[in-house]
Amino acid sequence: MARDSKHEARIHIGVVGAGTMGQGIVQLFAQAGHRLSVFDAFDGAVPRAISNVTALIQRGVAKGRYTQEQADALVANISPCFSLDDLADCDLVIEAIIEDVEAKQDLFASLEDIVSDKAILASNTSSLVVAEIASKAQHPERIAGLHFFNPVPLMRVVEIIAAVRTSTATVDTLRALVAGTGHRAVIAEDQPGFLVNHAGRGYSTEALRVLEEHVASHEQVDVIMREAAGFRMGPFELMDLTGLDISGKAMASIYEQFHQEPRFRPSALVPPRMAAGLFGRKTSEGWYRYDDQGKAVLTQTQATVPTLPDGLKLWIEPQSAQFKEVCGLAQDAGVELVDQAQEADICIVQPWGQDATNASLAYGLDATRTVALDPLCPFVLHRCLMLTAVTDRQVRDAAHALLASDGVAVSLINDSPGFVVQRVLATIVNIAANIAQRRIASVEDIEDAVKLGLGYPHGPLSWGDKIGGINVLKILNNMRGMTGDPRYRPSPWLVRRVKLGLSLLTPEAERN
Ligand code: NAD
Repeated sequence: MARDSKHEARIHIGVVGAGTMGQGIVQLFAQAGHRLSVFDAFDGAVPRAISNVTALIQRGVAKGRYTQEQADALVANISPCFSLDDLADCDLVIEAIIEDVEAKQDLFASLEDIVSDKAILASNTSSLVVAEIASKAQHPERIAGLHFFNPVPLMRVVEIIAAVRTSTATVDTLRALVAGTGHRAVIAEDQPGFLVNHAGRGYSTEALRVLEEHVASHEQVDVIMREAAGFRMGPFELMDLTGLDISGKAMASIYEQFHQEPRFRPSALVPPRMAAGLFGRKTSEGWYRYDDQGKAVLTQTQATVPTLPDGLKLWIEPQSAQFKEVCGLAQDAGVELVDQAQEADICIVQPWGQDATNASLAYGLDATRTVALDPLCPFVLHRCLMLTAVTDRQVRDAAHALLASDGVAVSLINDSPGFVVQRVLATIVNIAANIAQRRIASVEDIEDAVKLGLGYPHGPLSWGDKIGGINVLKILNNMRGMTGDPRYRPSPWLVRRVKLGLSLLTPEAERN
């Protein structure tokens, strides 16, 4: 291995497949100072890729990232290959060819005859079993998954997939190499979706359940998840960006690969939309319609806020998480607070995991005069108001008017155990807890991979701590009780830590 003046190991990396991912991988490692050799089976792909990468690196000069000399030196390290034989002295070869197991097996078989015994072979597969790619190799211990995200230079996480025969030395070398680029290397087991795509299963699948049950519209779910939970994009906006052709297949594939695990069961709403070509931005129509500039054309207008009637009397369940805030709002709006629910025009409850109808019955309230307010939505950002099955229209409008009286947005949804944010976040936390339980990845890697790979505002286990593990458990148990659906069964990781009063980040004791 060559060493540069800073004494960091610089190695020779081969990249096979010079498409979207191959180009990003070449750029990342070239910028880290390594020597790159690029091969593609199709004429023209390599010169195009090198010219794209060169332009991107040269842009770094204008941005003050490199001097012209430095940029020229990085670019000079990238060489085109005319045959696989040109990769003979590579220390590592990364493949980013088509997602086809036989093509990848054949490529690694050819490479094993060319490279040295010490060279590592890595696959950028996103959905194949790495052990299967390695199954035809003479030395499967030097084969691992090295899963980058698109766009590679900007997505600062890389999954290293340790397949059953991958050696520790291979994993350690790849981890050090990735760390040298400034990206965060996380180690994941060779399980469906690895780490990031497994952890990301909850967001869209639970949002689709909410839609299926007519709890809220897709526009409402997107607004609630952005404004109240802090996601950059709502789940339906995200499906439109990824393309339902891609995400629909991914949902079905992970479900099947996990032998029909109910937690990942896809929604029956998706196949008809895929069949109709409603893929999202790429077909100008998905959950939203898009204009010629690719901007979403919003059809649903914001519900007008009703007028607050005079002489209103309000009762709020005294143990409610936002009791003080609601009382303050009522006082400012001139609404009288009463101690006895029987005297009130509106009764507000704030349940965890329970629907508004059951919560009203549990408190002995009149369901026609009851509404529920999600305690998980930050009071100053967004308020999610849920009706019982029989909430009176005037009660609904009066509650809406009161909760919108200081200008904060209110979403009005139908009855559901766990509102919208509670359901979606509890699902995300539960899936992450089960990833930890199964040791698919370490707690630290789960936290960082989800923030970096999925762009969530918090790691899923620390998010569970913020919500309160006991609340997450309540939501899941209530959802399971109400629907009878095993998809909501809580992970043992979650149950045990809640019972012990511990953070969800607490690792398991080691038995040796
Ligand atoms: P792409 O179609 O943009 O590029 C693939 C390239 O591989 C093409 O240039 C093609 O000519 C070349 N190629 C195909 N078969 C070859 C062979 N046998 N030998 C040499 N070259 C060959 O595809 P992509 O999006 O860059 O994806 C590549 C791999 O990365 C796939 O395994 C994919 O699942 C995975 N991946 C993709 C993404 C993504 O967002 N695009 C993310 C993570 C992983």
